Amino acid sequence: MSENGIMALDREYVADTYARFPVAIVSGSGALCRDENGREYIDLGTGIAVNTFGYADEAWADAVTKQLHTLQHASNLYYTAPCARLAEMLCQRTGMKKVFFGNSGAEANECAIKVARKYAQDKRGPEYFHIITLKNSFHGRTLTTLAATGQDVFHKSFTPLTPGFLYADPGDLAGVEKLVAEHKCAGILFEPVQGEGGVMPLDPAFVRGLREICDREDLLLMADEVQTGNGRTGTLYAYMQFGIVPDVVTTAKGLAGGLPLGACMMGEKCCHVLGRGDHGSTFGGNPVACAGALSVLSRLDEDLLAGVRERSDYIFNELTGAKGVESVSGLGLMIGIKGQRKSADVLAACREKGVLCLTAKDRVRLLPPLNIPMDLLKKAVGVLKEAFADI
Ligand SMILES: *Cc1c(COP(=O)(O)O)cnc(C)c1O
Repeated sequence: MSENGIMALDREYVADTYARFPVAIVSGSGALCRDENGREYIDLGTGIAVNTFGYADEAWADAVTKQLHTLQHASNLYYTAPCARLAEMLCQRTGMKKVFFGNSGAEANECAIKVARKYAQDKRGPEYFHIITLKNSFHGRTLTTLAATGQDVFHKSFTPLTPGFLYADPGDLAGVEKLVAEHKCAGILFEPVQGEGGVMPLDPAFVRGLREICDREDLLLMADEVQTGNGRTGTLYAYMQFGIVPDVVTTAKGLAGGLPLGACMMGEKCCHVLGRGDHGSTFGGNPVACAGALSVLSRLDEDLLAGVRERSDYIFNELTGAKGVESVSGLGLMIGIKGQRKSADVLAACREKGVLCLTAKDRVRLLPPLNIPMDLLKKAVGVLKEAFADI
């Protein structure tokens, strides 16, 4: 089928919720992918931070297919090794104590919100349900995670959303204090780097302030690391660079390297909050997705993470102060670039030259494979610089 055929079919039958780029991707290898006309692209988007080691990574694909040929699903009525081993690995590498598995970022956050509410309500009563989140945040598309998302544009036409969410300005600790004083709260949910909100890292002093408030008020501090997690920012989880340990860490996107898997990790304070029957997911902890995650996580060692930071430094150095570039933000290989040109125009120019990028708010967003070869990265950054300079 021709590329146009795919596009026409999709437009006719797939729900019209996505503004897709005019490219039908058919295959890929590492940082490269191909469209149906055989055109090759260097991909700096990784399916929105999902394909941790790019397309069809061999070790990952082997681990996944091996599991596929062994046991694809058993349900959570039974024990399975990949799920148990992955939970162990996540706990050993973060210090968290227990993990609940779902299939997406939104589900991981739903679990975190349930944990915070149950923690507070079991201890202090049913009126302790408020969750503080930040303006400009993004936490998912279910009605509850939409409510958690501090951007009105996502709420419109879907009200009433789950009640009980309060929004503070990122960086405004006094604002958080005020909300805590005026409402009966259960927890605070934040992204260490606001991804969809424009790749904006939080001020570490603000995050430490959130930790202090949560300690003082016995609230759960929950880090949404759906996008920042799994090596993306140059440490295994981004909170590790903020000088705090959250009570709950959620992650998804890059965790299983391209398969749907979400995790809600719970620390000492709340690991026993959920009991039998309190939560569940039919596909959650699926052996194939977990085998993919075990493969990804086992490779995210200090060498690999040092490589992420090196590539990050290269991109920051090349683009900061480059012609047509106003500012560069982000952490590790999660980078936002504000240029003088419209982001959509920069993306189209890059696409013409064989480089795929993303946007976040008014910025061009880069989320390249964590192991993108330097020669490809250099080539792609060259194209990107030319596109920004074309003003
Ligand atoms: C993508 C994202 C989500 C939602 O993840 P889904 O898998 O699409 O449900 C939640 N939080 C953050 C920070 C994200 O980047």
